[in-house]
Amino acid sequence: MSEAKKLPAPVTNPETKPFWDAAAEGRFLIKRCTACSKPHWYPRAICPFCFSSDTVWEESPGEGVVYTFSVMRRSPTGPYAIGYVTLDEGPAVLTNFVDCDFDKLAIGDRVKVKFQPTEGGAPAPVFAPA
Ligand SMILES: [Zn+2]
Repeated sequence: MSEAKKLPAPVTNPETKPFWDAAAEGRFLIKRCTACSKPHWYPRAICPFCFSSDTVWEESPGEGVVYTFSVMRRSPTGPYAIGYVTLDEGPAVLTNFVDCDFDKLAIGDRVKVKFQPTEGGAPAPVFAPA
């Protein structure tokens, strides 16, 4: 099992503040464009697909599958795994994987978001086996 690695505080700005406010309540938000109806992540004010500014916040269950990952075995804070999760809604999220045996973690595994404390900031979204 992996030890929880203390993550640096996320950098917030007006564009992403609602995301981090929700994260502090344990809710995972994505954004959806009302012009082309595609969801995206990370949250941006302008849709990355059609460049519309008609984007709205949407709460997500934060569930998806491991798209790819890499295990860093030599780290001063111990091994950790980072990679991409493809959310059920479609967008890919760059994240840390936690609460799993890195030797058994596999592409295609079902994972779910959870929030991990950071150094004095909003909790950061990480993913664990569902
Ligand atoms: Zn769009």
